Amino acid sequence: MIIDGRPVEAISGRTRAVRNPASGEAVGDVPWGGPEDLERAVDAASRAFPSWSGLPARERASILVEASRAVDSRAEEIAGTLTGEQGKPLAEALGEVTRFGEQMRWYAEMADKIYGTQVPLGDPSLLGLTLREPLGVTGAIAPWNHPLTLARNKLGPALAAGNTMILKPATTTPLSTLAVVAAMHEGGLPAGVLNVVVGEGLGSEVVRHPRIKKVGFTGSTATGRQVMAAAAGTLKKLVLELGGSDPCIVLDDADLESAAAVITAGRFSNCGQTCRGIKRLYVQEGVYDALVDRLSKAVSAIEVGDGARPAVRMGPLHTAGQREEVEEQISDALDRGATLVCGGHRPEGHDFAAGNFLAPTLLADVDGDARVLSEEVFGPCLPIVRIHDLEEGLSEANRSRYGLGASIWTASMASAWRAARAFEAGFVWVNTAPSAYYQLPFGGTKESGFGRENGIEGLLDYTDVKSVVFGDLG
Ligand code: NAD
Repeated sequence: MIIDGRPVEAISGRTRAVRNPASGEAVGDVPWGGPEDLERAVDAASRAFPSWSGLPARERASILVEASRAVDSRAEEIAGTLTGEQGKPLAEALGEVTRFGEQMRWYAEMADKIYGTQVPLGDPSLLGLTLREPLGVTGAIAPWNHPLTLARNKLGPALAAGNTMILKPATTTPLSTLAVVAAMHEGGLPAGVLNVVVGEGLGSEVVRHPRIKKVGFTGSTATGRQVMAAAAGTLKKLVLELGGSDPCIVLDDADLESAAAVITAGRFSNCGQTCRGIKRLYVQEGVYDALVDRLSKAVSAIEVGDGARPAVRMGPLHTAGQREEVEEQISDALDRGATLVCGGHRPEGHDFAAGNFLAPTLLADVDGDARVLSEEVFGPCLPIVRIHDLEEGLSEANRSRYGLGASIWTASMASAWRAARAFEAGFVWVNTAPSAYYQLPFGGTKESGFGRENGIEGLLDYTDVKSVVFGDLG
């Protein structure tokens, strides 16, 4: 772990092996901490807070920029670690590391632009002000699918605004996070500002801790419910970035070539394990067969294998249990009459024997009540549904209990605008890839959670507003 600027073992001395999902082999050991280690981390973060928050914002910004450059300088090595513990192809891992530094610098530039306001109060002898103040010690809990991106979305704004932080990565992907935070300290991040703890059950300890003022949580909707319940004890501020089942509508007038390429990447990158991946596809009948045909060719051509091999475009699922769950969801759809267009099986051969591989899968003519449409599918499977028109597509898209993102492909401005307004989602993409941008707020509605990360909104959420009224000073 990293506590008070130094790598430390768990007080208990326990460790746990981290395994490669492509081979099952151990890629390293990680300290296995407990509540006593979290206490040390909170002590360090509490000690660091007065000096970190008291720095002139430009100085804090310079330190964050230098720390981010140190991460950049070790990007290839960290990307290798990320692929080894998570399974994603090396190119995707490298992109995740380089965007980590980019976003830190974007937030560093914001550090001296956190403004309060002066507010007229109706009585000219009074001066009303709002001040924006950092919260104190904050907590971040990240999942395994994009460990660095989802840590970065919390620590970038938190640190820029003057907070200190305890970061708890997923227990199966701690090594890349530890490598990044070690690099930030080599780059000059002061001790105690950012601490990393790893261990079973530490997430809920972070949520319950009385000295932690806010928790930024990214994970499943089921865990999000537990986090919200546990946060009630200390009335902790929360941002919950939870599961998604993002719909994509393709209308008859869409550019099919671009749509097919983006949908393929948008569903199968990171082996389908992305919260904002395209998880349900609704295609208007005039282009249905043509699009299914294009997708079938593109998806069948995806090279599957160990993400460390340069030609590989899709790695294994992260855990064996997750592969079984996706297989059950596929079987349910087939039992309800769906057509298997491609995939649906475990790839065979020596290279695939020990990993959690599943061939990229397309399901056509999927029944509206199938689990692949009502549940989040966190793996390489795309269900396709035929629709008559935009209104039917919107009504099917909005049937989900999730509301993270949604996208549409159409040449009609009127259809695009209608969809942008009607989608029940926190993010809408029109004729483009469902990417997240650190400049734009990201987050969900419905059971995809609440609060926003990224953008100015994400920064301001790491501050409290204090109202101050000055009477006559004379
Ligand atoms: P998860 O909920 O199992 O775990 C997420 C994190 O929470 C891990 O660090 C885990 O150790 C920790 N945790 C587990 N139980 C906890 C508890 N009771 N209290 C506090 N922390 C606890 O999720 P996962 O399987 O690691 O990640 C996949 C899920 O994350 C998917 O549902 C995906 O859609 C979602 N996700 C959402 C976003 C988003 O921005 N909305 C982004 C990425 C992933």
